[in-house]
Amino acid sequence: MTAVPHHDVVIIGSGSGNAVIDDSFSHLSVAIIDQRRTGGTCLNYGCIPSKMLIFAADVRDAVATAGRYQVDVQPDVDCTRLLWPALRDRVFGVTDAHSDEGRHGRERSDYVTYYAGHAEFTGPRRLRVRTEDGAEHDITADKVVLANGGRPVIPDVVADSGLPYETSDTIMRIDAPPRRLAVLGGGYIAAELAHVLSAAGSEITIVSTSEELLGAPQDGDIRATFTELMAKRHDVRLGVELTELTGEPGRLVLHLDDGGTVAADMLLVATGRTSNADRLNVAAAGIDTHDSGRIRVDEFCRTTADGVFALGDVSTAVPLKHVANRESAVVAHNLRHPDRMRTVDLSTVPSAVFTNPQMASVGLTEE
Ligand SMILES: Cc1cc2nc3c(=O)[nH]c(=O)nc-3n(C[C@H](O)[C@H](O)[C@H](O)COP(=O)(O)OP(=O)(O)OC[C@H]3O[C@@H](n4cnc5c(N)ncnc54)[C@H](O)[C@@H]3O)c2cc1C
Repeated sequence: MTAVPHHDVVIIGSGSGNAVIDDSFSHLSVAIIDQRRTGGTCLNYGCIPSKMLIFAADVRDAVATAGRYQVDVQPDVDCTRLLWPALRDRVFGVTDAHSDEGRHGRERSDYVTYYAGHAEFTGPRRLRVRTEDGAEHDITADKVVLANGGRPVIPDVVADSGLPYETSDTIMRIDAPPRRLAVLGGGYIAAELAHVLSAAGSEITIVSTSEELLGAPQDGDIRATFTELMAKRHDVRLGVELTELTGEPGRLVLHLDDGGTVAADMLLVATGRTSNADRLNVAAAGIDTHDSGRIRVDEFCRTTADGVFALGDVSTAVPLKHVANRESAVVAHNLRHPDRMRTVDLSTVPSAVFTNPQMASVGLTEE
């Protein structure tokens, strides 16, 4: 019988999980596993490409409104649009190169084994990895770090329709902006991507079950003012639910519970994100989850299973990159120094929304 390969540390997820490992781990055997592009959501599908596109949208808005500030911009500012394919290619040219470089760096390392594949527990600190070539690898570890993030939530009414839809994972890479984009959801991801696609020339309709755009942690006054501004620029349908999605690819009709309809060429689903904990078979490893699906951790980022830590969107109540980064630094320290572990404090996390206007907040709201 061949022995199951054993690692001192196994990291699932190469987003913030990748940052746990630096050369202070070089005397150990480390494995990093990822089923998608190296670098995770922030680099490939989230913060970085969205903020690069948003910067271009901001420049477009500044040019288009330059006349208000006595700046004479030529030629006709009404035609100012993002040059989409060229912009998209520049943005993903940068992020894809970073991702490829990150993966090759790990593959070249003499103390890291990089598995490009999906990992699931088969027992306590025992995993099966299905790699992209179809092979299965069973491995064991002294310590496991769960940094496997989250994914967009797709409401059943959309999934069951069989019609095409985009999420934040896909919409930034589309070939051309649609003439009419329906955005399902009213949180910060919906607002930011609506800002980008609007600057790219799409007519935007936002459909949200809430009465106001942007949820906590934005202050009530800010939510109300932002909702008012968005309603002046876009068709905004609030306090309504999508009951049916009909039509055909490129000619969709959203049916709302107030009897209204929205015709759109493309649908962006931005109705929130959920933890990927449900795709790890955590029950086999004795790892508890909250009712929301997030992995339960203590202030040291320890799960309920001995030797297993979790960080970032898979476990945190505040799914933002700087939180995942902080947790990754805490886990890196706690792996090396179990006798003097550090803690994470999420009581005061700053956040920002990169729309027009930009908003930032930290600490308690007036409410
Ligand atoms: C559009 C968008 C914009 C955003 N903008 C901002 C922003 O401006 N500021 C901010 O702070 N945050 C922002 N975020 C949130 C931020 O991206 C996340 O909080 C952060 O990336 C989470 O990092 P993570 O390491 O926990 O997970 P991820 O970066 O998602 O990494 C998880 C990795 O695990 C892999 N994986 C999952 N399951 C398995 C498995 N079973 N086996 C193997 N691999 C697996 C995945 O492929 C992925 O690469 C944004 C998110 C989105 C979607």
